[in-house]
Amino acid sequence: MQRFVYIQTFGCQMNVYDTERILQVLEPEEYAATDDPSRADLILLNSCTVREKAEMKMMSYLGSFAQLKEHNPDLLIGVAGCVAQQEGERLLKKVPLLDLVFGPDNIPELPGMVQRARENGERVSLTKLHKKKKGYEFMAGKPMVTGKPSTMVTVMKGCNKNCAFCIVPRVRGRELSKPCSEVVSEVERCVEAGIREVMLLGQNVNSYGHDRDDGILFPDLLDAVDAVEGLERLRFTTSHPWDCTDALIDRFANLKSLCEYFHLPVQSGSNPVLERMRRGYTFDEYVERADRIRSTVPGLHLTTDIIVGFPGETEEDFQRTIDLIHRVEYDGIYAFKYSERTGTKASQWEDDVPEAVKKERLARVFEAADIYRKQRLATYADQVVEVLVEGPAKASKPTQPQLSGRTRTNVVVNFPVGNAALGTWRWKGKLAQVRVKRVLQHSLYGEIELVQ
Ligand code: SAH
Repeated sequence: MQRFVYIQTFGCQMNVYDTERILQVLEPEEYAATDDPSRADLILLNSCTVREKAEMKMMSYLGSFAQLKEHNPDLLIGVAGCVAQQEGERLLKKVPLLDLVFGPDNIPELPGMVQRARENGERVSLTKLHKKKKGYEFMAGKPMVTGKPSTMVTVMKGCNKNCAFCIVPRVRGRELSKPCSEVVSEVERCVEAGIREVMLLGQNVNSYGHDRDDGILFPDLLDAVDAVEGLERLRFTTSHPWDCTDALIDRFANLKSLCEYFHLPVQSGSNPVLERMRRGYTFDEYVERADRIRSTVPGLHLTTDIIVGFPGETEEDFQRTIDLIHRVEYDGIYAFKYSERTGTKASQWEDDVPEAVKKERLARVFEAADIYRKQRLATYADQVVEVLVEGPAKASKPTQPQLSGRTRTNVVVNFPVGNAALGTWRWKGKLAQVRVKRVLQHSLYGEIELVQ
């Protein structure tokens, strides 16, 4: 019997990837994805707990399904992901309408859980994290069904870093790397399915392979993936500055598919704050890495993550973060107000920076970083850029069709296609040479010169 599953994904790319795995295990059970929750037999929320806001959003979303459940007693509702991993059984107690709670390592067990809930009316929680070094089997990923020409491939799970603010190690466990041969064959399958761009995924990809004994480290993995015939573009995320080696940076200069984009989270510019965060580097050490990246790969876009209002952050500490932004001239930043997470080291300290101060610092961080993003985008004016076409632009109208894609440096470029009858499907995954006519706040607008 054909059934329908509705999944809402919160949080990082890792969750987006896990959502695909969830769909994959449900497929043999004759579940098809739907984007209409009222049509679903199973509703799943793939949750994020990295900051309180994401968790609150998920919880209020969950409440909104109460009515559906009243109308359809057969409807099953479940929470997956990091809140599930953190809360387990407690979540079943807290939320009476919930039937299922399962962690990221329990995705393969989902069909059995659904069966128990359906047949015996059980409420099931499975949140067993794989903690051993051996015996973990990564699910053989199928190419994701996003319909985009780019996709993600997980190369490792977990994180061995001990950042004081971060919940990830608690909910995702220790680092476990996927064997290189499995990564390569997954990428090959993606390319065969028409994918042209792959993002290698892990909480800290730079430390890939340190848990294995085959001697293959992250730069070697990049070599192996770059060699996959037909792969046009390669990216990876996330990196920790601590393991950002020269060997890794040099790959940007040497590997054809590796795109000129590097996300290197710094979190703070203040040495005392970095130390309390247990990041393992100083302002100067980070800047040295950033300089090396910039001088090795001209034109590369360097982006970062910043936390403002970490416990004990003074105005002087915060000023060092602003100094760092001016020193590195980031091409883009993601910045967050510190959010206390139960179970982390920092949760033992008082969350003492007032909300109003956090808010103001966040605004100042964006203001400082904006200067450099704008400066950088301005350099694209009248240049011809290579765009991997993803599909219709958000602003596309039937009367004025527009396509959208990204440069190798990860900037969104929109451009009109003169003839609506061409249809967008023919363009998807094509490389277009686009001349930039207008530089906007966060994107570029241009005219197509050539399609390959
Ligand atoms: N492993 C990744 C982090 C993933 S979380 C890395 O090291 O980059 C993504 C970002 O969320 C982090 O880089 C950090 O800036 C932010 N973040 C994590 N925990 C947070 C917290 N407790 N409060 C506010 N922001 C946080």
